[in-house]
Amino acid sequence: MTSIQVPRHESCPFCDYLAGRRPYTVLARTELAAVLVTREQRGLPHLLVVPVAHRTTILDVTDDEATALLTGVRAVARAIDECYGREGIAVWQNNGVPADQTVGHVHFHVAGTLDGGDTEWGPVPALPLTETDAVAVRIAPYLRLE
Ligand SMILES: [Zn+2]
Repeated sequence: MTSIQVPRHESCPFCDYLAGRRPYTVLARTELAAVLVTREQRGLPHLLVVPVAHRTTILDVTDDEATALLTGVRAVARAIDECYGREGIAVWQNNGVPADQTVGHVHFHVAGTLDGGDTEWGPVPALPLTETDAVAVRIAPYLRLE
């Protein structure tokens, strides 16, 4: 039992992306975790680490998924460091609509800081898949997902 107000969708966007029902840039995946390139780039670059199984919030992940998720976050941060050489890397994760969760499938944001520092918290455009695919091509050689 939880009080968290989870965003509702007719079908889960992340599950649709992982199943190939909707196009999206899936950079890498293991049995338990996957790395996506978000179309709303708030950093340089900005990636998402999600459980492959549908879990709505951090409260719902198994111990093995928790390990896979944080190992994935670390792998993505290392890849950003090696490939993009940013001066900072932000990691964040939101649970519930009041905490700004917009997709009801738990996800960790990992974003290199922008030129001049910080992360873009205001509106950002949804980039075309050609641009998120290009991010994946650039960083893939540096990503060692366990
Ligand atoms: Zn889902």
